[in-house]
Amino acid sequence: MALHSKIILGLVLGLILGIVSVFIGIGEFISNWVMPFGTIFVKMLKLVAVPLILVSLISGISNLRDTAKLSRIGGKTFGIYIMTTISAIVLALILANTLQPGEYFPEEKTIELKEKYASDASMKISSAKGVENSGPLQMMIDVVPDNFFYSASNNKNMLQIIFFAVLFGIALVLSSPDKTGPIKKAFDGLNEIIIKIVEIIMEYAPIGVFALLAGLIVDLAGDDPNNIITTLTPLLYYALTVIIGLAFMVFIFYPFIIYSITGITFRKFLKAIFPAQMLAFSTSSSAATLPLTMKRVEKNLNVSDEVTSFVCPLGATINMDGTSIHQAISAVFIAQAFGQDLTLVDQLAIVLTATLSSIGAAAVPGAGLIMLVIVLGAIGIDPQGLALIIAIDRPLDMLRTVVNVTGDATVASIVASSEGEIVKFKEDE
Ligand code: ASP
Repeated sequence: MALHSKIILGLVLGLILGIVSVFIGIGEFISNWVMPFGTIFVKMLKLVAVPLILVSLISGISNLRDTAKLSRIGGKTFGIYIMTTISAIVLALILANTLQPGEYFPEEKTIELKEKYASDASMKISSAKGVENSGPLQMMIDVVPDNFFYSASNNKNMLQIIFFAVLFGIALVLSSPDKTGPIKKAFDGLNEIIIKIVEIIMEYAPIGVFALLAGLIVDLAGDDPNNIITTLTPLLYYALTVIIGLAFMVFIFYPFIIYSITGITFRKFLKAIFPAQMLAFSTSSSAATLPLTMKRVEKNLNVSDEVTSFVCPLGATINMDGTSIHQAISAVFIAQAFGQDLTLVDQLAIVLTATLSSIGAAAVPGAGLIMLVIVLGAIGIDPQGLALIIAIDRPLDMLRTVVNVTGDATVASIVASSEGEIVKFKEDE
């Protein structure tokens, strides 16, 4: 059985087990005895993230003959990332303003949810405070590490690792091959080893995904299965608006761009990237999915190592189209539920802040929700409004992470194609 079929099977069986255990009341058993296998899987993926970025980026850059190509790839990557994110937000605003999910939200529910999730919302608000209080160039300052070992010891510092790897790679290209040849070879060798490690971890993916899904359902349901239904029903229209936006990106926007630029059909593109999408769905983390995203882009879309190793890690950290769609729709939804009208200037402020806060959001579960505080602040909405959507955030997080990862793979293909590479679909070997 192919890997992606096994992953789907794990996912479906996990969902079934989760639902059954909620109804027969063995949730605690699942949390104690099944979920840990999912946690172990995510930890293994995270374990490989820093070495993977470091080694593949250094080895990718060191294969370039000159640094001009690198700055060209860098410029294009940033430009396209920003463009796709802004397009996603504009789409989200059109959807939120036409479907108006907040207008139909019952007022008594607004009060009830605000009370119920007040403390959760306050926690998220205080997490966002640090970002809100920083200066306009803080993001740039944060990208530059002052201690390599400190950066490498925390997966949150992915951009710092990218910075160091690019610096190291450039220095390697610029130095004399007589002296640094063995180092280059060593990085190429290490790259092979890390890729093998990723393959080994992926063998375990079906079990990991199975355990994650079962654990997640149990977690969402809490002690009372009816809980899910009563809390989530009024939020369905809002969730649907978000889902329409996300689906548009995955099924129309990206495939259209990919087809017009590389000629790869919708079906083939999805086939190439599907396992990474499933992993994004199960882990809700672009960072945890990164090893598989890179593998699929390189092996199944035929994108070169140098482009993949630069565009994908950068995308996992800064390119979050799904997150930005979610933020824009949520901001409008909360404003509507509070009965606050948004002017055109407010909508423009959403475009700007949702772009920045999706760039700033960490590639981990729930990060987008924290950064939503910044978008709400910019349009003068009480950040406690987060309380309205907390209950349904995890399922939406799973879906927006799928979009985030698909966006990274799309941009990697476009950049590769613009560099004259032949991007084409390749079956699994
Ligand atoms: N979970 C998302 C990701 O890792 C970020 C978010 O929107 O919360 O891509």
